[in-house]
Amino acid sequence: MNSYDCVIIGGGIAGLTSALYAARGGLKTLVIESTQYGGQIVNSLDVENYPGFLSISGYDLISNIKEQVKKYNVEFLEEEVTDLKKNKVITNQREIEFKTAIIASGLKRRTLGLEDDYIGKGVSYCATCDGAFFKNKKVAVVGGGNTALEDVLYLSNIASTVYLIHRRDTFRADASVISKITKKDNVEFVLNKQIKSINGDGVLESITLDDDTVLNLDGLFIAIGFSSEVNYLHDLIELDEDGFIKSDNTCTNIPNIFVAGDVRTKEVRQLITAASDGAIAATNCINYININS
Ligand code: NAP
Repeated sequence: MNSYDCVIIGGGIAGLTSALYAARGGLKTLVIESTQYGGQIVNSLDVENYPGFLSISGYDLISNIKEQVKKYNVEFLEEEVTDLKKNKVITNQREIEFKTAIIASGLKRRTLGLEDDYIGKGVSYCATCDGAFFKNKKVAVVGGGNTALEDVLYLSNIASTVYLIHRRDTFRADASVISKITKKDNVEFVLNKQIKSINGDGVLESITLDDDTVLNLDGLFIAIGFSSEVNYLHDLIELDEDGFIKSDNTCTNIPNIFVAGDVRTKEVRQLITAASDGAIAATNCINYININS
C-alpha cells in the first residue's frame, strides 16, 4: 500500500493550494481528484476578484496553479474516494495510507429535480460549454448567484433572448455583474418565480412557472448553486446541520484530518478563502507531523 505524509481529497483551488504548501513544506503529497481539476471555477470565463489578476478565466487560473504545484513533486491520482479512515483513504481502486489528510472535495451541483429527462436535450448546467448551440435562440437561466448572472451575460452575446428566472427579486451575485446585465437589451428578468415543470416531447420546448405562465424556450441553463456531498466520510467526521464539515478554522474532529474550501462550515465561499484554507490546512498538517513524529 502506498503511503503519504499528506493526502488531499479534491483538486480545486483549496486542494491545489494545500498541495502547494504541503509539498513546499517537505511533505510527500498526493492529490486525489475524481472528476475535474479546478472544480466549479473552471467554467467561469472571467474572474475579476482574485488578487494579482485584473481578469483571468477560471480555467487559466487553475492551469497556472496546477503548473505551480507540479514543480514540487506532488503526485496526482484520478480516482473516486469511497471511504476515509483515520489513517487510510480508500478509492474505487486502492487503499492509500497517510499521516495527515485534507478534505477539499468542494461541493456538488444542485438540481431542480425536474430536469432529468431533458439534460443534453435543451437543458444544460454549463453556459460556456453549451451556449454556442443556442445562437439566435431563446434561452433562460435559472438562479440568482454569480454563476447564473455570468451565464446570462455570456448567453446574451449569443442568444436572441435570455430570460433570467430567479425566485427572489434580489441577487447574491456581485453588483458589478448585475450592472452589466441591466445594460443588455435582450435580457428579460423573471423575478419572484420558480419553475414548476419542464415541457417537451423528448426535447425541451417550454417551461411552466409557478404562476402557470408558459415560456417557450430552446435552452434552459440551471445555475442554482452547490451543496456538499461527503457520503464517503460515513460517520468519521462531524457535519453541521446543512451537511458541511464542522470545522474550527480548518480543523475537524479528527486530529490529523483537516478540511479546506467550500466543503467546510464558513461564511464566505470564494476562491480566495478556499486558497487561504488550503494554506492553513497544509500548515496544520506540517505542524501535526512535526509534533507527532
Ligand atoms: P450561489 O451563490 O449559491 O447562488 C445560487 C442561486 O440559486 C441563489 O440565488 C439561490 O436563490 C438560487 N437557488 C438555489 N436553489 C434553488 C432552487 N431550488 N430553485 C431556484 N433557485 C435556487 O451559487 P453560484 O452562483 O453557483 O456561486 C457559488 C459560489 O461561487 C459563490 O460564492 C459565488 O460568488 C462564486 N462564484 C464566483 C464567480 C466569480 O468570482 N467570477 C463566478 C461564479 C461563482 P436564493 O438567493 O434565493 O437562495
